[in-house]
Amino acid sequence: MTLTCYRCGRTAGSGARCDCGEPLWLATDPADFSWPDGDADGPGTRGVWRYADLLPVDPLDGVGTAAGATPLVRVPRLDESAGCRLWLKDESENPTGSFKDRGSAVGVAAAASAGDDRVGTVSHGNMATSMAANAASAGLPCLVLVPEDIPPERLGYLAAYDPDVVRVAGDYGRLYYESLDLSGVRFVNSDTPYRVAGQKTTALEICEQFRRTGPDAPDADGGSSRSSPARSEALGEGTAPDAVVLPVSSGGHASATWKALRELEAAGLLEDVPRLYLVQAAACDPIAEAYRDGADEVGTAEAGETVAYSIANPDPPSGTRALTAVRETGGAVVSVPDEEILDAKRALARRAGFCVEPASATALAGVRRLSTDGAVARDDHVVAIATGTGFREPPDAGVDPPSVALDDLDESVSALLSG
Ligand SMILES: *Cc1c(COP(=O)(O)O)cnc(C)c1O
Ligand SMILES: [Zn+2]
Repeated sequence: MTLTCYRCGRTAGSGARCDCGEPLWLATDPADFSWPDGDADGPGTRGVWRYADLLPVDPLDGVGTAAGATPLVRVPRLDESAGCRLWLKDESENPTGSFKDRGSAVGVAAAASAGDDRVGTVSHGNMATSMAANAASAGLPCLVLVPEDIPPERLGYLAAYDPDVVRVAGDYGRLYYESLDLSGVRFVNSDTPYRVAGQKTTALEICEQFRRTGPDAPDADGGSSRSSPARSEALGEGTAPDAVVLPVSSGGHASATWKALRELEAAGLLEDVPRLYLVQAAACDPIAEAYRDGADEVGTAEAGETVAYSIANPDPPSGTRALTAVRETGGAVVSVPDEEILDAKRALARRAGFCVEPASATALAGVRRLSTDGAVARDDHVVAIATGTGFREPPDAGVDPPSVALDDLDESVSALLSG
């Protein structure tokens, strides 16, 4: 497998970073790629592995074959507040509840096929859980390096899969780089080439699913977007959403999404490349800051506290690559304050029935900003990636429903319904 640098074009046979400092990714030859057969849906041919022609490794039996194949759902009841035709890509349906399973499935399969004895990652959240689960399934020991101040409940979720966990005191940003130099462990960190290869499949699925169902999806008023003449003319094999919006931290998933779009374009499967919009929490937004400043490189930000703890990376290793993705596709990077994140999280549950973690809700908060700014239009089809489940969140405190006697039920319910 050859690695290449998106920025300077240099190639390498191994490693995670180019001599120019930017992250490497795996070279692919997508020219002959076409959409797989509609009914390929068995183990090893479903989800992530449906796109085997664009992946560097064969599937490994086990939980990795359950990654991906998540639903793309039209959510018209959120259109008004989103200011567009909104879709959700529900990544909570992955085996450990986030899109990280896509990258772990490919990363762990690569380690197993190379005969590595041990895998590892640097994470205090979803990536750690996902790596531990995939390693358990592969029968490989897993080393997870976490920050010293990790909340105890996160260690609890992780312990279910029994990895080796080590707390590391010191600069967490530097730990990412230091881990890649450790011997005896294959680290599959947030933006390493095999993880990016797996995480590419979120966008491959979005484009394939949208092409099948998107144009016929109902609008909030019950009509179909096919009824718009301008739009139906544009409908063809290469139909894709107008924009894809995702929360960004290390920039790994954003890079992977961009790579998927480039590959589909090279294969002649996209008429227009969707605009890529990235969203950060205002308290920790180095990529948004570089975007606002028109900078060429993403620097290090203040590590402020935010409810969106899964995306609070002040020193993103693929930040500059994510910024490039946005510029090349005509998108933008926005940041949103915690109140807007929590409001979006409530709206997703109360108006659409999706329980997501705050980091995921930033996608909707970002779409709202983008439509207010005029970057997203009412008739745009916009896919927000709901990156991770909210079922691991501590429940809301202070919920106190009325209590009634069984014998008074009739009366009490009538009073409730009329009142
Ligand atoms: C990891 C994660 C992100 C950010 O992805 P990066 O690849 O680090 O940019 C967003 N949302 C959730 C729920 C995550 O777990
Ligand atoms: Zn380079």
